[in-house]
Amino acid sequence: MLSQLSGAVHVYLRDSSVNRFRMDVGDHVYIPAGTPHRVVPVAEGVMLRYQPLEAGLQGAAWYCDGCDSELRRYEWEHDNETPAVQCYAAACTRFSADEAARTCGKCGTVAAPLDLAAFGWPLAEA
Ligand SMILES: [Zn+2]
Repeated sequence: MLSQLSGAVHVYLRDSSVNRFRMDVGDHVYIPAGTPHRVVPVAEGVMLRYQPLEAGLQGAAWYCDGCDSELRRYEWEHDNETPAVQCYAAACTRFSADEAARTCGKCGTVAAPLDLAAFGWPLAEA
C-alpha cells in the first residue's frame, strides 16, 4: 500500500491491467503482491509504503531500454531488522558492478550503471 503525503509521483506497473497512474496528495494505492512497480517522482514529496509484518520475498528488477526484456532480478527474504533501503541499495550496487547483468541477452543493449547520488542512499557491498 502506497500513501502519498505530499508531492506527486507516477507509479508504473508491469504484468498488470493498469500500466501507469499518477498519485497526488492524499492518494492511496494498493499494489498486489508480486507486481513489479516503479515509483517516479513528479514533484518532491513524502510517500509512505506499508507492507505486512511478515513481508516475505522482496526484489528489484531492471528492464532493457532497447526491447523491454527483463535484464536482471535480485530477490531476498524481507527482514524487519534491516532497513529496506539497505536491501535496495545493495541490489543496485550489485547490478551496477556487473556489466553482464546490465547487458540484454535479446538485443545487446547495455544499461548504464545506476547513479544513486541523488537518493543519498548508503554505500552497499556488492
Ligand atoms: Zn533488449
